[in-house]
Amino acid sequence: MDFSLTTEERQIRDTVRSFVEKEVMPLEPEVLRNEREGRPALDPETLRDLRAKARKSGFWGINTPEEYGGAALGPIMSAIIAMELGRTFVPFSFGGTADNILYAGTEPQKQRYLVPTIEGERRSCFAITEPGAGSDARNIRTRAVRDGAEWIINGEKTFITGGNEADFVMVFAVAEPYGVTCFLVDRDMGWKSEPIPTMGQWGPAALVFQDVRVPEENILGELGKGFELAMQWIGQGRYMIPARAIGSAERMLGMAIDYAKIRKSMGQTISEYQAIQWMIADSQVEIEAAKWLTLYAAWRVREGMDARHASSIAKLNGAVMANQVVDRVLQIHGGMGYTKELPIERWYRELRLLRIFEGTDEIQRRTIARNLIKGHARLGLIGE
Ligand SMILES: Cc1cc2nc3c(=O)[nH]c(=O)nc-3n(C[C@H](O)[C@H](O)[C@H](O)COP(=O)(O)OP(=O)(O)OC[C@H]3O[C@@H](n4cnc5c(N)ncnc54)[C@H](O)[C@@H]3O)c2cc1C
Repeated sequence: MDFSLTTEERQIRDTVRSFVEKEVMPLEPEVLRNEREGRPALDPETLRDLRAKARKSGFWGINTPEEYGGAALGPIMSAIIAMELGRTFVPFSFGGTADNILYAGTEPQKQRYLVPTIEGERRSCFAITEPGAGSDARNIRTRAVRDGAEWIINGEKTFITGGNEADFVMVFAVAEPYGVTCFLVDRDMGWKSEPIPTMGQWGPAALVFQDVRVPEENILGELGKGFELAMQWIGQGRYMIPARAIGSAERMLGMAIDYAKIRKSMGQTISEYQAIQWMIADSQVEIEAAKWLTLYAAWRVREGMDARHASSIAKLNGAVMANQVVDRVLQIHGGMGYTKELPIERWYRELRLLRIFEGTDEIQRRTIARNLIKGHARLGLIGE
């Protein structure tokens, strides 16, 4: 068993780390200022510059196949890069990617939706959740009815990430009598969006479809097979959620250690107190555990193995870990941790989402338990 990275992998990690430290972290004060004044975290020009610098350094399309101009670094490097990007709260990720569900498209669909999304010319969103169907995604009510060579879509979606900015949506609707089907729907076909304010900086949107007409050729994948397509896509990238959280947790733990070493109370620095030391130790133990569970899930994806069970474990563990670590880090900073002078409260609000989206904690537990009970996953295996 070999846990080491290759020389090339180590070089990539170090280059990303130095890019994040030199180019991204210096934007943190600007991000806090912008958000507190109600503006987008980064203005479009800054984001464009940053993307251009990243592209020049070769960080473009990390997990995108080479035939689409990407670097195709694979799941393990993608997870490691996400950990590095997670060290900063600046909402930045390297461009040149598209939702991998779009690779299921026909050649004309790829030219119209996938390629421009990779190039950053188009923005997509992925809409399955509805006001009456979140965890119970099989219960969606949005309907698509055939009318000649078109389908007419009616229904409502909610909590759709990027839904207010996207110019097309991959929307899941029940196409009678075939079942759940995914449609590629341009905004100018008539759907409307409304932002939903949340406790974090993450701004999802509600989408409304009222008699939206979509041509037959805009069905993504097979008629009636949309649910399988969605689950396959969500499952494949799930390890990226804990990966980013690991970077955030490590950075915050570093802040807590630095602070504990200088903050004095009752005649000594708080780092001398066992209560503080235990919070530091528990946090590192949990971060390390999350790291290896995440890399194991990414490894299974890389090896073409079924990664669903491992990804559920990594996602559940990573989301809970990040919330525990941020809470301890805030506690170690005392009153300062609660202020808006430090970014901890921002992370605290943002990381809370991880326990909810892409399958709540409870749904991950349900999946893990059912896999074991039904024998889809077995205890006592290593690396199989
Ligand atoms: C910021 C944000 C961004 C999002 N982005 C997207 C997006 O881009 N696209 C998209 O389609 N969706 C998106 N979502 C939706 C997200 O996936 C759902 O919110 C999530 O799946 C939970 O669904 P729900 O909110 O309806 O909660 P519910 O399903 O109503 O759950 C409520 C509570 O009941 C629990 N529960 C439900 N069923 C069970 C069960 N069988 N056993 C035990 N406990 C159960 C849940 O765990 C939860 O604690 C986003 C959500 C948020 C908040």
